[in-house]
Amino acid sequence: MGCSGPNNVGEGSHRKNLNVNLNGKYAFGVDLGGTTVKLGYFTKDGKNIEKWEITTNTKNGGENILPDIANAIKKKMKEKNMTKEDIVGVGIGVPGPVDAQGIIYGAVNLGWGTFNIEEKLSALLDKMAVKAGNDANVAALGEMWQGGGKGHSNVVAVTLGTGVGGGIIIKGEILAGSTGAGGEVGHIHLNDDETDSCGCGNKGCLEQYASATGVVRLANKALQSGKGGDSCLAKLEKVTAKDIWDAVKNGDSLAVEIAEIYGQYLGKGLAAIADVCNPTIFVIGGGVSKAGDILIKYAEKYFQQYAFKGAKGAKIVLSVLGNDSGIYGAAKMVLP
Ligand code: ZN
Repeated sequence: MGCSGPNNVGEGSHRKNLNVNLNGKYAFGVDLGGTTVKLGYFTKDGKNIEKWEITTNTKNGGENILPDIANAIKKKMKEKNMTKEDIVGVGIGVPGPVDAQGIIYGAVNLGWGTFNIEEKLSALLDKMAVKAGNDANVAALGEMWQGGGKGHSNVVAVTLGTGVGGGIIIKGEILAGSTGAGGEVGHIHLNDDETDSCGCGNKGCLEQYASATGVVRLANKALQSGKGGDSCLAKLEKVTAKDIWDAVKNGDSLAVEIAEIYGQYLGKGLAAIADVCNPTIFVIGGGVSKAGDILIKYAEKYFQQYAFKGAKGAKIVLSVLGNDSGIYGAAKMVLP
């Protein structure tokens, strides 16, 4: 959620300056990750026809990544007898900040520096239209289009994985902010008393509590302070997020206590987001969300406690698309 300034380049429509082929029948969606690239192609009305994966080759500063993606798309087009005229365009989600002009400002996991990814990939694809966005923002667009946020145009997606990511969609458009860093909800500051550091260098971020590592950290702290008692968590050699939520479901009293703390932080984070951008729905995804409705219940309880009354109406639901939200959102980037 960047503050708009004179260099306000990332604002507005994700389709600005984009010459898509509106007569085309299909759009490709690409979700570029540090180990695999997910690809898929879609009809204009959101049906995924096929999806597949290739390996991300990060050797030599990631110089082969875009040629590999272009080749995978060209190969699929040949296999399906598609021509350039059949394709509306190609959307791609990347693990780094991207501005409205398609410039990616570095992607550490890929070995990439700063360059215009849209121009480069388009040149490799016989000048087909290419639109790029930050992966978490693009995944949020996917959830709005065909996932948990379907039918809504003001959607916030929050991914509870190893870290906590997010994407904000306002009036159907990604809120990328001034430098493409909009929607970094994992680093909302929630606790002044935290002594451990977050991966970002600050202390007390939402991610330190609501991520998979965060909930495990809460459990380990409780166990170390002698709260184990007869909790099943105390008997485990190594506690995982899944262990904790399974124990919550079984009514384990320590696990329930941890879930309350977890819900307080997540609910507080969602309330802060809702007070600023007033979405109609939150879509919760990522590995930790596999805990299911019980996690939503704890988040909902504290969201209702902390949110401003005008923002309390937001629903909290689970992701529908899971790991596919990225390819859906990427395709949607080039579709009307
Ligand atoms: Zn942080």
